[in-house]
Amino acid sequence: MFVRVQGLVQAVGFRPFVYGLATDLGLCGWVRNTSAEVEILLQGQNGAIKDFLARLKQDAPALARIDAISTEPGSSAKRQTERYREFTILPSEEQKGKRQGVQPIAPDAALCSDCEQELLDPADRRYLYPFISCTNCGPRFTIIQDLPVDRQRTVMQAFPLCPTCQTEYENPLDRRFHAQASACPVCGPHLTLYGRKTGQARGPAPTDLDLDALLTARRLLHEGKIIAIKGLGGFHLACDAENPTAVAELRHRKNRPDKPFALMAADLEQIKNICQVSDAEAALLQGSEKPIVLLKKNT
Ligand SMILES: [Zn+2]
Ligand SMILES: [Zn+2]
Repeated sequence: MFVRVQGLVQAVGFRPFVYGLATDLGLCGWVRNTSAEVEILLQGQNGAIKDFLARLKQDAPALARIDAISTEPGSSAKRQTERYREFTILPSEEQKGKRQGVQPIAPDAALCSDCEQELLDPADRRYLYPFISCTNCGPRFTIIQDLPVDRQRTVMQAFPLCPTCQTEYENPLDRRFHAQASACPVCGPHLTLYGRKTGQARGPAPTDLDLDALLTARRLLHEGKIIAIKGLGGFHLACDAENPTAVAELRHRKNRPDKPFALMAADLEQIKNICQVSDAEAALLQGSEKPIVLLKKNT
């Protein structure tokens, strides 16, 4: 059976998911990304193939969105008649000019709960590493340069994986199997804090790295300073919302005398101290998009 899947199916952990599903059902064949879709060749029991197609829709990864599935017999259309003995992920196939209007690009996704746990676990090798991500979370849209999505077609190509990350990337049982944005403190990007040095023609110089940068930024925020944070999709300016002088300075610099600013909070409990939160709003705040949500102020 030859299967084509269209929709939001690249850079969302779809190939690892297909791999897991096929192996689970004892099916052989392969899966690959093309510029326009995901292609799957299945060989095995008819019942297992039927189950595969049902679960393909039902159990798809959280960030995926399947728009269309089409099937044809594996032997038709000059598909390989070769017998496969296992299921594999094939290298992606680039098809020039085929992607326009067909293949949507997955949006960036906020930190998932598994990664958050690792982030805060002192025993984990990504403890407090700001660029932590996995197949279910992290940047997509912002880092993808072209389709089909593979690491060499994202900005992450500048950060070759270290041996440990490479092992995770190649292990079908790992949360970071084929996770294109995977990184760690050894091989991934680092945080740098730049200070504004007046009178320096060459611009700002890096002052601190990683944890030092974070701690210094926190201290500066406490002192009422304004920090520009370069995030995935651009910069945002931050200051201590409880410091009226800092907020006034930010309003002045941004020329925003009245318009509300977005507030950042550590968790839902903290938000509830300030605002009313309905169940629907709580779901939005904690979902994979983590958008800015307009809430009613507590009275
Ligand atoms: Zn994650
Ligand atoms: Zn690494």
